[in-house]
Amino acid sequence: MSRYVRFLHEGMPRYGRLDGAEVAVIDPHPFAQHKPTGDRVEVRGLRLLAPVIPSKVVCVGLNYRAHADELDISAPDEPLLFLKPSSSVIGPGEPIRLPSDLSDEVHHEAELVAVIGALLQRVSPDEAQAGIFGFTAGNDVTARDLQASENQWFRAKGFDSFCPLGPAIATDLDPADLSIRCTVDGEVRQEGTTAEMLLPIPELISRISQVVTLLPGDVVMTGTPAGVGPIRAGERVAVEIGGIGTLDNPVVDRNAPTPSTNGA
Ligand code: ZN
Repeated sequence: MSRYVRFLHEGMPRYGRLDGAEVAVIDPHPFAQHKPTGDRVEVRGLRLLAPVIPSKVVCVGLNYRAHADELDISAPDEPLLFLKPSSSVIGPGEPIRLPSDLSDEVHHEAELVAVIGALLQRVSPDEAQAGIFGFTAGNDVTARDLQASENQWFRAKGFDSFCPLGPAIATDLDPADLSIRCTVDGEVRQEGTTAEMLLPIPELISRISQVVTLLPGDVVMTGTPAGVGPIRAGERVAVEIGGIGTLDNPVVDRNAPTPSTNGA
């Protein structure tokens, strides 16, 4: 298994492969033929970025029975698919900015995220499986009040900063039974395993590819286990997935005045 990260290196976004406490810088990126540049940097102190800039973020609603039950909705036969805009993507440590002017109930949704490594157009589940580059962690941040009041989830799911991804992309990871956990300020809010998913990931990606062509670097968020709940300004929300790592983000109110630095 390899774990790839994207980070700022001498002011430029670069990719590297984690190797113990160090990152081996690669050129140009892991989605094509690449080679090590020979540069190695310490993981400590690295400014990690979102591990991909996807052309699209495809999501599935209600892919865990217990989450469908907690929302009191029956899980559909055909997967309920929706998009988050690529502008909602942020990296590890970047703040989730609550749109307090438009919503007063924003929830976390811890999710396993498949990162696509090939062009997938109307593929079978086997071809979808072969086209997965690896997996990362994601938080499908959702304005629950807007989701309940509007048929289209453009606003509920699409605000800037509503799609934290990271910290790394793990390749050769079997997604069948990974632990998935969400904590808020260290308190466990969601705890489950990807074994509870209703639709297996290759089947899900195959179904998505009947509608849209998936491109290398696109991501598929595979649904959230039970336990979703509100996040508030001043808290930290963390998504931990076995074999991938912890995606940690502070929560701020985008309308709060920025703290003054001159003591005034
Ligand atoms: Zn979700």
